[in-house]
Amino acid sequence: MSAFIPLSVPNFGAREAELAGEAITSGWVSTSGGKVTEFEQALARYVGMERAVACNAGSSALHLAAMAAGITRGDEVIVPALTFIAAVSPLTRYVGAEPVFIGCDDRLCIDPDAVEDFCRTRCEMRDGKLYNKATGAHVKALEVVHVFGNMADMPRLVELAQRYGLVLIEDATEALGTRYTAGPFAGKFAGTIGDIGCYSFNGNKIITTGAGGAVVSNHADWLEHAKHLSTQAKTDLLQFKHDEVGYNYRMTNVQACLGLAQLERLEGFIAHKKELYDHYVARLDGVQGLRMLPFVTDGVRPNRWFFSLYLKDTALDRDDVIARLQAQDIQTRPVWALIPEQADYPRNEAYALAKAEDYRRYIVNLPCSTNLTLDDCERVCQAVLAL
Ligand SMILES: *Cc1c(COP(=O)(O)O)cnc(C)c1O
Repeated sequence: MSAFIPLSVPNFGAREAELAGEAITSGWVSTSGGKVTEFEQALARYVGMERAVACNAGSSALHLAAMAAGITRGDEVIVPALTFIAAVSPLTRYVGAEPVFIGCDDRLCIDPDAVEDFCRTRCEMRDGKLYNKATGAHVKALEVVHVFGNMADMPRLVELAQRYGLVLIEDATEALGTRYTAGPFAGKFAGTIGDIGCYSFNGNKIITTGAGGAVVSNHADWLEHAKHLSTQAKTDLLQFKHDEVGYNYRMTNVQACLGLAQLERLEGFIAHKKELYDHYVARLDGVQGLRMLPFVTDGVRPNRWFFSLYLKDTALDRDDVIARLQAQDIQTRPVWALIPEQADYPRNEAYALAKAEDYRRYIVNLPCSTNLTLDDCERVCQAVLAL
């Protein structure tokens, strides 16, 4: 029997053990300790920003971003329908705001045409602010998720955010390292283009600190506020005075050590992901109607976090494929059930879902760990070709 091939698992080695071991030996294992600052600086340098604020999860990063951006009870936020639920709840339910769901384009990211259509036909501008005509609510923000490490159509989305007075929040939790190589944002990384951006270092992401996240922003004051909220919002060193509600979301020193080791390896991980992806494309794309996504990567160096096999032009059924590969010890998964179908959200508005429903129905995500060998990648290809 051959070994189990997981979908996406951490890739830790001697360097992670060495740095985390130093933190443990030093006794600096909690949220104080110099490594958190060092990690924030290294991350900021990597993505070309002045500063980053590290925290204990991507979900907390998004919650901090929502609060720093001033999203509050009664506001509405335009969000993607095709994404992980943690992209939506921190920007909406956590702060008392409501989502408006929009479908995706062929990058699997929020569809700019549908965003424009919603703003133009269902909303009105008053005093530079956008209001939803159906609910009367202030539509305050637009959230972009760079799904599976694909870059969303940022030139269009930035223009729409400006035109309609929307705060632009980037969920780049899956897209650390994805950057433009051409066009108006050449050289810019996913997460650094809008008003505020978030990363995740959860165990299944391209680099991991076990659990962790970070916020970056083009507004220095928002980032300072995010940092304040990530502590207990204390205003003095000795007297324990607090000027607002803090959330205790800081990253720990041990996690930061893991992050420093992982950041050193990130470009190598991205290069290996490309090798794996290219192998899947060479072996599967166009064979018996199989296709590999994403379809759109012009002018972008994606991190290729997740690889999607697209089954629409085959006779294969998604769940049957997943079960038959599982029986051969190969772990795959479908794309998320759409957020408007999730328990808390069916009463919210949702538009232009056809493409999202199509991708939901026909995508199977293939093993993509940064420590997957080309031999195991080939074993997956052979199993898929034998379906
Ligand atoms: C992973 C992920 C998150 C949340 O990150 P955590 O670190 O797991 O809290 C948010 N949004 C998307 C799109 C994600 O994939």
